[in-house]
Amino acid sequence: MNIHLGIDIGGTWVKYGAIDPEGHILFADRAPTRGKEGQAATLAGIVDCARAMIAWADKAGHQPVSVGIGSPGTINPRTHVVQPPTPNLTTIIGVNLAEVVERATGLPTAIDNDANCAAWAEHKYGAGRGIDDLICITVGSGIGSGFIVDGRIFAGPNGNGGELGHVTIDWQGPRCPCGNHGCLELYASANAVVRKAGDAADAAPAGTLAQLRKRDNGAMTVAALFEAFAAGDQEARRLLVESAHQLAMGILGAVNLFDPEAVIIGGGLADADTAGFWLKQVADRIRSYAFSAEGKNLSVGKAALGNDAGFIGAAALGALLVRGESD
Ligand SMILES: [Zn+2]
Repeated sequence: MNIHLGIDIGGTWVKYGAIDPEGHILFADRAPTRGKEGQAATLAGIVDCARAMIAWADKAGHQPVSVGIGSPGTINPRTHVVQPPTPNLTTIIGVNLAEVVERATGLPTAIDNDANCAAWAEHKYGAGRGIDDLICITVGSGIGSGFIVDGRIFAGPNGNGGELGHVTIDWQGPRCPCGNHGCLELYASANAVVRKAGDAADAAPAGTLAQLRKRDNGAMTVAALFEAFAAGDQEARRLLVESAHQLAMGILGAVNLFDPEAVIIGGGLADADTAGFWLKQVADRIRSYAFSAEGKNLSVGKAALGNDAGFIGAAALGALLVRGESD
């Protein structure tokens, strides 16, 4: 069978896997991202992931026909070169990763931003299947987003489009590492919510959040926050509602501008077992503030493909190179 290979490059791990033409995962693995060892090692590590999949395919009797790469940063749509900033992985800046992998494997290789790959995966095979206009948001250490407009990834002429994480929701807010003030991800990312939960634990040492942090050896986590909420802790509830409303304000602008049929939310906060309450807060707030009648009934739901979305979407984008598809 002809199969498609996908590589999702993160700051810590490179996740990779092979899919069949219907998007089913046939193989998946991960390897440490060798970002601290310099550029040559980083690129060798990425190429090794492609080679590992090719070796597996040989044994399994499959024929790899394309590779796709999901990368941090902006990918210049003309040169395919990774543009800064990529704060968690600087060794790939200025490199055409698709060319590197293509040269090493002999397979046609596509590349796009990692959040765009995740959005493409949800559009092709996940929660957004059959929906040609959607916004896919990943709420993790930061906030990533990919926009599918009229069945295609919307990235703008320079590849910078469809990025919600650094949209300002409070121009008088705290300074963001990007240099701006009050960016959405300072308030509503999983890291931001966990940081606020840690502050709440400091302020109330006898409270549930502080007790859970102590139990977890001093580490505050998304899971502990939801656990405190489930136990009836009012501070945990307040933090979840607040972050949901902040996220909704960021998404709302995009909903009013792009008129999507669906908003799909994934990542560390949405993936928690008890995330339903938080997700409903996000959905209700978007709908109640939306400008259009359709926005008042907008579909807002959970992503379906989890952590695999990045490499699945990358592989599916690679598949377009050999199928000559435009969808
Ligand atoms: Zn920012």
